[in-house]
Amino acid sequence: MTMPEIPQNPSRRGFLGGGLRGAFLFLLGAASTLLGRNTQKEKTVWQLDPYKCIQCTRCATECVLEVSAVKCVQAYPICGYCKLCTGYFDPQPVSLNTAAENQLCPVGAIKRKALEDPYYEYTIDEPVCIGCAKCVKGCVLFGNGSFFLQVRHDRCLNCNDCSIARGCPAQAFKRVPASQPYLLKDREHQA
Ligand code: SF4
Ligand code: SF4
Ligand code: SF4
Repeated sequence: MTMPEIPQNPSRRGFLGGGLRGAFLFLLGAASTLLGRNTQKEKTVWQLDPYKCIQCTRCATECVLEVSAVKCVQAYPICGYCKLCTGYFDPQPVSLNTAAENQLCPVGAIKRKALEDPYYEYTIDEPVCIGCAKCVKGCVLFGNGSFFLQVRHDRCLNCNDCSIARGCPAQAFKRVPASQPYLLKDREHQA
């Protein structure tokens, strides 16, 4: 087997040719890096703006997934930890206990836990939530508005043409950077 020949004493022309080739390859590399960065920058996902959402319930029914990728989220810094949570209880509860008949959520996805009297904590059981926004409406209308909807990216397929975005009457859906995929509620933006 013959070993590949290593060139000795390269000519000026060869040296210049090699230099130009090197510069060209360097520029090509830099351009691809920049292009790569731009491509990364442009990677986006769907998210809904909780301040635009009007709780129309379509998030539960329009997603291509059988159980929507949209789920309710609890903003604990905004929550009033109310004994009578208007996102949890039916507007006309038989009594203020956790019986299914008293709950607003159609699938029992909100867990109520007593804290120090008279406070209660409400947490969302995400796998059970269907994103119907009933609790969100109850909380926005009569409470602190700490329940809100978000597209959960561990479930969302990031469809090119999101069917919920298309049907949303409030144009609440938009593309956001994949590096910051959530549009959260915070105290500062509360009315
Ligand atoms: S479709 Fe739009 S307005 Fe309706 S619940 Fe979803 S985000 Fe809110
Ligand atoms: S009421 Fe609807 S949005 Fe709220 S937790 Fe239950 S299923 Fe989810
Ligand atoms: S992008 Fe697709 S999977 Fe994600 S919320 Fe929209 S319809 Fe559902």
